Amino acid sequence: MLGKMEEIFDPEVVIEEFEDLSNDAGKVQREALKKILEENGEAEYLCQWGLDARTDPESFIACVPLVNHNDLEPYIQRIADGETASILTGKPITTISLSSGTTQGKPKFVPFNDELMESTSQIYKTSFAFRNREYPIGNGKALQFIYSSKQFKTKGGLTAGTATTNVYRNPQFKKTMSAMQTPCCSPDEVIFGPDYHQSLYCHLLCGLIFREEVQVVSSTFAHSIIHAFRTFEQVWEELVTDIREGSLSDRIKVLSIRVAVSKLLKPDPVLANTIFDKISGLSDWNGLIPELFPNTKYIYGIMTGSMEPYLKKLRHYAGQLPLLSADYGSSEGWIGVNVNPKLPPEMATFAVLPNIGYFEFIPVKDDTNCPEQESAYVSSVEPQPVGLTEVKVGENYEIVVTNFAGLYRYRLGDLVKVKGFHNSTPELQFVCRRNLLLTINIDKNTEKDLQLAVEAAATLLSEEKLELLDFTSQVDTSTDPGHYVIFWEISHAAKDEVLKECCNCLDRSFVDAGYVSSRKVNTIGALELRILKPGTFHKIMDHFVGLGAAVSQFKTPRCVGQNNTTVLQILSNNVVKSYLSTAY
Ligand code: AMP
Repeated sequence: MLGKMEEIFDPEVVIEEFEDLSNDAGKVQREALKKILEENGEAEYLCQWGLDARTDPESFIACVPLVNHNDLEPYIQRIADGETASILTGKPITTISLSSGTTQGKPKFVPFNDELMESTSQIYKTSFAFRNREYPIGNGKALQFIYSSKQFKTKGGLTAGTATTNVYRNPQFKKTMSAMQTPCCSPDEVIFGPDYHQSLYCHLLCGLIFREEVQVVSSTFAHSIIHAFRTFEQVWEELVTDIREGSLSDRIKVLSIRVAVSKLLKPDPVLANTIFDKISGLSDWNGLIPELFPNTKYIYGIMTGSMEPYLKKLRHYAGQLPLLSADYGSSEGWIGVNVNPKLPPEMATFAVLPNIGYFEFIPVKDDTNCPEQESAYVSSVEPQPVGLTEVKVGENYEIVVTNFAGLYRYRLGDLVKVKGFHNSTPELQFVCRRNLLLTINIDKNTEKDLQLAVEAAATLLSEEKLELLDFTSQVDTSTDPGHYVIFWEISHAAKDEVLKECCNCLDRSFVDAGYVSSRKVNTIGALELRILKPGTFHKIMDHFVGLGAAVSQFKTPRCVGQNNTTVLQILSNNVVKSYLSTAY
């Protein structure tokens, strides 16, 4: 399969292919399942469920149970430990992906294979084709803030790395990128460098060197773009000096990076002066990206879900440039593609590609905005999943994935809302992770509820010209009664009165009936807002990167569990002030 792709592809052909697939999504799904089961029916995992070579959805659903990662972990571990028998797939798995670990709290192993790489290319090409129709880009370069983590060998000798690393390292990736006529500004040595601080500096430098050619500024998750330009604010003078003098800053110590980037650098006082003037003309870094990279057509990256809180800052840097939200997937595999790139990120949806896996949807009652009822996100009797074409517009679902890489009826843990259909395939809006919950007794608040509460309270900061840089939360049950703790890192010191009001506003903004009633009778204590020292969230990212996570896949954990002692320790070591709500 790999290597078959043409160097250049015709976006209109790709769109036509997608239209065909989505026109008959039900049939394509049945065919995908048939293919998955034919290719892998002999694998030990599938054999035990008595499918007896049947490949229809009805038999599959009747025989094979719904599982989560814990159920499959022993099988994946045996693969990682070097067992060569066909355990989950017909063809043995030779590569393992390490999920970022920031959504689940701990990294987990998932299988990676050529078929996943192939679907990655299909997603990239399809979404590029739709993007390019609305925002055509000429020949040029992409300033991509992408970073690979280290690949390592598992006990059994399999290559393991984060999913993004496995993708970037795959020769298919480069081909796909050049087929889109947007090679990365930075040489490979920067992307694959062992120290992301140095890689980031060089991404910025390479971007500036090719500033006229940059057509797109992107990253996997939008957080990396914010992180990059916040760093730019700190190091821009050094970057300008490097360009003026044509020699690389001493901060770049990794030899391979030094050699590769030095080749691109030559003394260029004209460019240095231009950049200097552009920056001097800016007010508060507003519109920084188009000033630096005048031919950029759009900013691209995942901007939905836990990335939404960064949109305000991204718009600040982006000025008038459109923000295009990237596709929906996970280390376990891709789900859907953004075929409506003109929609603002807050409204972005993902059309499911019906040939890359077999998808089921567990209905979940949506009552997050209904304070009268207790949340039903966790209920004892769960409704049966429905098929891809049976989902209903306006309803919420948890996604269940069966793919070509050994996952069968696997609960991904994400909640999505069906916003409509593209032909006969649903367009999903990402809602939140299902298991990220703030809960003490009868209260249940999701990642989304937390985000909305934080958004409401942060407007009080903007009135003071202060910026919320990042946030997380914790359920503190060491007090009696237990209470919610929200951690904030803010751009500058804020007045006590303002922060007290923010704290009250946070407390009032959790409107689920369980929380409100528990607060009223004090079975949940007053919400606490703890303010962190500048740089705390960078320390948290460094911690995850140290564990093997890739910066490209980093998502700030929005709720830190009791067992995540290191992160809790980083947080508590960096608290400068705290406030208790008096809202109830
Ligand atoms: P990872 O651990 O890096 O594999 O993270 C995968 C998770 O990231 C998914 O299960 C989602 O929760 C989240 N994610 C991926 N793509 C998107 C997207 N487009 N919008 C919102 N969340 C996403």
